[in-house]
Amino acid sequence: MPTPTDPAPCSGDEQLFECLACGKRLCSAEKITSCPGCGETMQNLSTPRPE
Ligand SMILES: [Zn+2]
Repeated sequence: MPTPTDPAPCSGDEQLFECLACGKRLCSAEKITSCPGCGETMQNLSTPRPE
C-alpha cells in the first residue's frame, strides 16, 4: 500500500479517509467507515488525535 505523501488538505479538526476499493478520499471530522461511492471500507489515513 502506498504511503500518502501529504497529510491531506483537511482542516485541523478533520481527518483524511481513503477508500480501499476505489481510492476515493474524503475529509471528515467524524469517523467514516464505508465509502459513500462504493460502500467498501474506508481507511483513516490521518493520525488519530488523542482525546
Ligand atoms: Zn469506494
